[in-house]
Amino acid sequence: MHKVEKIISLLEKEYPSARLALNFNTPLELLVALILAAQCTDERVNQVTKALFKKYSTAGDYAETDIATLEGEIRTTGFFRNKARSIVGSTKGIVERYGGKVPDRLEDLLSLPGVGRKTANILLGNAFDVPAVGVDTHVGRLAGRIGLSKATDPDKIEGDLCQIVPRAKWVRFCHLLQEHGRKVCQARKPLCPTCVIIKLCDYPNKTTEL
Ligand code: SF4
Repeated sequence: MHKVEKIISLLEKEYPSARLALNFNTPLELLVALILAAQCTDERVNQVTKALFKKYSTAGDYAETDIATLEGEIRTTGFFRNKARSIVGSTKGIVERYGGKVPDRLEDLLSLPGVGRKTANILLGNAFDVPAVGVDTHVGRLAGRIGLSKATDPDKIEGDLCQIVPRAKWVRFCHLLQEHGRKVCQARKPLCPTCVIIKLCDYPNKTTEL
């Protein structure tokens, strides 16, 4: 069994209910949540989207909104001007070119303003069940620490993970790494003594005490 398959199996036992931490019901809601999630905690995004999703239900609702109003509604997620521009820009593209429906192809998603590979892949994997590896902060950090990728560029990390993780597990693997990154392999100080994959991890600076 490849090391990565053992890692998946151990993390699966540890976090059977791992899932994307952002709340959403539709691809459009996930797109908006992902744009808001940049440099912001998932908890904060979920607080903000609770009200936002009640007010806006179609791509057209966002595309036609007064941008200053939207900025005020998402202000607490930080970088709100850029995020408002991305939400309005991407939803305009969805209305004008995709009949108001979030497209389910990578190239189409990448053509939307404010949508990069990470957002597009997380969207594909979680809203459309299309196998995809979305390299967010947790996935990127853990791939490096565990020794699954030597790259620092997220696109290269994505390529490395796609080579070694079975395609059917791409989305699940990301959920597991995200959960492990939140609970144990935290950015500032990983809790190595409690880590179920410590024997499979190449990180040279493992912590020895909690
Ligand atoms: S051993 Fe430490 S660095 Fe490696 S995955 Fe576990 S918590 Fe992270």
